[in-house]
Amino acid sequence: MDFSLSKPQKEIQKAAWEFAKGEFDKELIIEWSKEQRFPETLIKKSGELGFIGIHYPEDIDGGGMGLVENVLVGEAFCRKDSTLGAALMFTGYASECILRFADKNLKTKFLPDLMNGQLISTGAFSEPGQGGDISQIRTNAVKKGDAWQINGKKALVPFGGMAGLYVVLCSTDPNTAPTHGMSLILVEAGREGASVHHLPEKLGGRLMPFADITFDQVTVPESHLIGTQGNGYQHAQSFFTENRIQIAGLALGTAQGAFDRALDYVRQREQFGKKLAQFQVTRHKLASMAAKIEAARYLTYFAAWSFDNKKLEPRFASMAKMTAARTAVEVADEAIQLLGGYGYMTEYEVEHFYRDAKQAEIFQGPPSVQKDIIADALIGKLK
Ligand SMILES: Cc1cc2nc3c(=O)[nH]c(=O)nc-3n(C[C@H](O)[C@H](O)[C@H](O)COP(=O)(O)OP(=O)(O)OC[C@H]3O[C@@H](n4cnc5c(N)ncnc54)[C@H](O)[C@@H]3O)c2cc1C
Repeated sequence: MDFSLSKPQKEIQKAAWEFAKGEFDKELIIEWSKEQRFPETLIKKSGELGFIGIHYPEDIDGGGMGLVENVLVGEAFCRKDSTLGAALMFTGYASECILRFADKNLKTKFLPDLMNGQLISTGAFSEPGQGGDISQIRTNAVKKGDAWQINGKKALVPFGGMAGLYVVLCSTDPNTAPTHGMSLILVEAGREGASVHHLPEKLGGRLMPFADITFDQVTVPESHLIGTQGNGYQHAQSFFTENRIQIAGLALGTAQGAFDRALDYVRQREQFGKKLAQFQVTRHKLASMAAKIEAARYLTYFAAWSFDNKKLEPRFASMAKMTAARTAVEVADEAIQLLGGYGYMTEYEVEHFYRDAKQAEIFQGPPSVQKDIIADALIGKLK
């Protein structure tokens, strides 16, 4: 058993950290977050440097590496800044559906621009009436000649209105069991009949705009089917499993970034004639925070490594996301407490790490959904 990162992995981790240190400006991030303005030039830079497509094959301009490397980049970015880090890593969201399931034409047409930061992708799975339970979605796509016509409404779509392409989960065979009657369809932005309803206010993630998207007779060529017709539910679930590991990496970086700031602070701040770091209660808090982070880290790395080695059991992706997300929320909460009144102030950053941490607990399924996946795997079929 060898728990160490390889030399190239350490180099990638260092390169991502150096990039974030050089490009993520604290004051600008606070300003952009207030204005909810996404810094588009940074997507291009991180794409050109290979961070966005690190886990994609080289023949479509990816880095030829795996999910472990993707997680290392996400962790480093979010450690430097949870808001900007997560937003940058999400610019290629759901494009894994194209990579894993689409035919060569769709891959070569769309993926290189995503890898290079020229295009943003997103996934439209949830609906106003169906979030965790996507088997009940109502958005449908009907074949009309050599095209798909899509009708329905998708909810809480990250980069909705800003993304250049949407991976949309649709019901395509309503007479079959829902889980065997869905398909994934690629829709480019700007198609007639698609309208965007922006959702301007939210707790965190303020550099990742959200929107609901309505599809009213939106027509795309039949070649925009991603994967196999009728297997959309299975393709989506498979993508969710992969994406849960990526989210775990972002949550891990968020936890580590909040911890770093708290540690720096308690080493300097004096109260009652002592450094805060000398009070036993502070020392024990730091120890608990660090232990939680390490536990989340190795679970996340293990899940990513298992994915890359085709050994992943989905329950480990759920365990990683559930554990890393809870760790981020708890560590950021303690970090604010350790900084006291200053922790509550925007300038000291842990305030936005705390707000950002919560999104990892909802997105790609709340803890209750992860626990059901884990319990199903543990208990198996009952006689
Ligand atoms: C940051 C963020 C990013 C997102 N990105 C996307 C995206 O890219 N694409 C997309 O389509 N959607 C996205 N969403 C939507 C997200 O996937 C849904 O919000 C999520 O799946 C939960 O669905 P819901 O909000 O409808 O909650 P519901 O499914 O209604 O659940 C509400 C609450 O009920 C409880 N609950 C739910 N199911 C169970 C259960 N089985 N057992 C016990 N309790 C349960 C949980 O506490 C849960 O939090 C995003 C949301 C957020 C916050």
